[in-house]
Amino acid sequence: KNILIGGGTGFIGTRLSNLLLGSGYRVTIVSRMPGLNHITWTDLDRNGLPNDTSAVVNLAGQNVLDPTRSWSAGFKQNVWNSRINTTSSIVRAIQSAKEKPEVFVNISGVSNYKPNEKKIYTEDDASEDYDFMSKLCNEWEKAATIDKEAGVRTVKIRTGVVLGREGGMIRSLIIPFWFGFGGPVASGLQPLPWIHITDLCNLIKYSIENKKVEGVLNGVAPQIINNLDFTKSFGKALWRPTLIPLPEFVVNKMFTEERAVLLTSGAKIKPKRTVETGFEYEFPEIYPACKDVGSLFMY
Ligand code: NDP
Repeated sequence: KNILIGGGTGFIGTRLSNLLLGSGYRVTIVSRMPGLNHITWTDLDRNGLPNDTSAVVNLAGQNVLDPTRSWSAGFKQNVWNSRINTTSSIVRAIQSAKEKPEVFVNISGVSNYKPNEKKIYTEDDASEDYDFMSKLCNEWEKAATIDKEAGVRTVKIRTGVVLGREGGMIRSLIIPFWFGFGGPVASGLQPLPWIHITDLCNLIKYSIENKKVEGVLNGVAPQIINNLDFTKSFGKALWRPTLIPLPEFVVNKMFTEERAVLLTSGAKIKPKRTVETGFEYEFPEIYPACKDVGSLFMY
């Protein structure tokens, strides 16, 4: 069976492709660049889904927290289009395919849950549009909606910060933490919805393989933590102190407030439906997850 992965060349996509290939699937990637087992977004728009596609996953998205890119109108547009336009292209290709895939899995973020000190959110709570990131997440999910008549099972995974050695937050933090310059971001009290990359990739595979799984799933670990809990666990995993805080104004200056919120604020989120489906986490708690991604043998 062939699985098509939009944005499959990235941090999550590379790990997911390896997992699927190891389980006997074939993988085709939709990328901006042509290559072996790749098609481009233009190919997808022109020719539709490759033959034999049984499942489609979308992981495309310009890295929002790229520190080398200023938060200009052009870059914001890029961040937006790289998610909404790719998702729309995939949905169009699925809807017009003669032989429909069985399932479409879309990966988006958790910014649609508005930070609130008292509330613990689940998939049952309503999404809110309150800033750029929340609007992006909501539009992204809307774009991922396939007409009912097409009969394609759709799973929309709202993903917290993904912890893995090869990319994302851990790759940005490993060097400062390793040299003992680690510390909490802002007050450290802001919740940090997170998931280990092994669990996210397993959850995507589980969503592909289980016919009963459908609709919105929170792709976060069951343990709710804040930034300080993460910082202490990661420091402990690396045997390093974590005494140097990164003040909020510095983060706002580095990234511009509109995207710095991804680091300076967060909501408390439980994966209620995810657990109800029977999915089992390999890393439900933060310290073992940090020990795994901070393992020195890998550097
Ligand atoms: P990556 O930054 O590794 O990028 C994924 C892929 O997106 C890239 O390999 C690239 O493929 C494609 N891409 C990048 N920019 C553009 C663009 N401007 N237009 C079209 N495609 C583009 O992302 P991750 O693997 O970390 O994340 C995958 C998805 O999951 C993203 O949408 C992200 O927002 C979401 N997510 C990630 C989290 C994390 O902590 N990593 C947390 C929550 C959500 P190519 O160069 O081959 O075209």
